[in-house]
Amino acid sequence: MSTEHLEPSTLPTTTQSPIAIPKSATPPAAKPGKLSLPIDQTIVPKPSEASWRLPFVTLISLLLHAMVLGALALIVLKSPQLVEEIFTTVTEPEEPSEAIVEQSMLEPENINDSTPQSVASQETTSNLAFETKGPIDLNVSDGIPQLEADTGNLPGLAGIKVGGETAGRMSVQVKKTMVAKFGGNSASEASVASGMKWLQNHQLPDGSWSFVHSKHADCKGQCSQDGSFTNCPTGATGMALLAFLGGGHTHQKGDYQRNVKRGIDFLIKAAQPTETGLDLRGKVTANEGMYVQGLCTIALCECAAMSKDSRVRKAAEGALDFIVKAQNPKDGGWRYNPRDPGDLSVTGWEVMALKSGYNAKLKFPTSSFKNAEKFLKLAQAEGGAQYVYDPAIDKAPPTPTMTAVGLLCRMYLGWDHKNKKLAEGVQYLDKIKPQPNNMYFNYYATQVMHHWGGEEWTRWNELMRDQLVRTQHPLKDGHLAGSWDLADVHGGGGRLYMTCLSVMTLEVYYRHLPMYSRENIKVEF
Ligand SMILES: [Zn+2]
Repeated sequence: MSTEHLEPSTLPTTTQSPIAIPKSATPPAAKPGKLSLPIDQTIVPKPSEASWRLPFVTLISLLLHAMVLGALALIVLKSPQLVEEIFTTVTEPEEPSEAIVEQSMLEPENINDSTPQSVASQETTSNLAFETKGPIDLNVSDGIPQLEADTGNLPGLAGIKVGGETAGRMSVQVKKTMVAKFGGNSASEASVASGMKWLQNHQLPDGSWSFVHSKHADCKGQCSQDGSFTNCPTGATGMALLAFLGGGHTHQKGDYQRNVKRGIDFLIKAAQPTETGLDLRGKVTANEGMYVQGLCTIALCECAAMSKDSRVRKAAEGALDFIVKAQNPKDGGWRYNPRDPGDLSVTGWEVMALKSGYNAKLKFPTSSFKNAEKFLKLAQAEGGAQYVYDPAIDKAPPTPTMTAVGLLCRMYLGWDHKNKKLAEGVQYLDKIKPQPNNMYFNYYATQVMHHWGGEEWTRWNELMRDQLVRTQHPLKDGHLAGSWDLADVHGGGGRLYMTCLSVMTLEVYYRHLPMYSRENIKVEF
């Protein structure tokens, strides 16, 4: 789904040393009594001897004190570090500074432990999203400038600068800057936080989400508009995870670690190893099977890229393998069932999954990209400026939604900003504008326009952002707060699907770096 994920491995390794135990500025003075020898108890002068022995004992005592003090002075002069350590161990640590706390959230590069280090509090963030402390994943100097990465032997990707893109992986400060720079605002960020809260409130005890969200014990039907996909837990879970991951929340970082961990655990447990890769479709037998595989794979790939968790990475590679083997060998597309002749809607999700896997540096055959390009050519109309759903249907008409999906795939597979057909397609979307009842179209078209940039993006974004902020249920709506009423002609996923797509659309400012304007991006820190 994302083109250019931040690739943690390309980012400079932090050079910060492990957090030092805070040391007191001035070592405490040694207790006076501690260094004195027990002379008074061991040498008890007899009364008759006291007259001449007293000055002698005092002299000895003074000499001994002087020797001990001299030895101490030598230690201080020769090894101040040792002294510092001695005093540090006996001194109560001071409260760590804020900077140290933030550094402590940085994690080493090679983490394979899926257990979160700590579970952050899950307080309501809906009104405070922009101000609340989020994940500190990277140094603020990381992120945007480190974009170049090897495009490897992917001819289909020539011209795309692959590199750090999924920026929820950035620090709060960078994220904030990107929100401002690319057209978000505090209202859109509050909306994202509120949407996540709703998702958190509807996670089931086994870690999954359901398109029949109302079956959650706390919801008890307070939130209407269950989806019609009643037996699709992996699909719903993949979708909810994407909303969290898009905001930079993983099972190891951020405010929703426990939720993401339980969701990822559920997916991995539900996945079925097969001869053709890891099958994430669950018990789905209807048309949504390969959709589910696609979006669960994107979730695993994004999580693998952000966390470097080897368990997630392995699952993501298995899931990619399944997608590669499910591609139709003739037309290069995907459809409901593995190896069916393709349609562009399912193909769009699989292309996004493969690209996420590529950006996460996962292993899978890249010939899939070339074959997918073949399919796009079959599905194009107007020379590639518009797209149809099913190229096998004679004279199939292009549609706005398929055009948005097709153009985004084209961008991912190498069309650049100078491509006239891409420019025509963008003009077409620009005229259509964000739709009040087609979130699927809005989601894809928003990404196309964001990557394209310029005044087209500015125009699009203001309408899209404000429409989403305006139509979200506010806090006063109780359990519904943070969700969106279904407004989509493809709405089998109900309120949960609508809420996930809306949150992801509002995460566009930092989820993806716009691919054609990176050289112009300068984020001030
Ligand atoms: Zn509810």
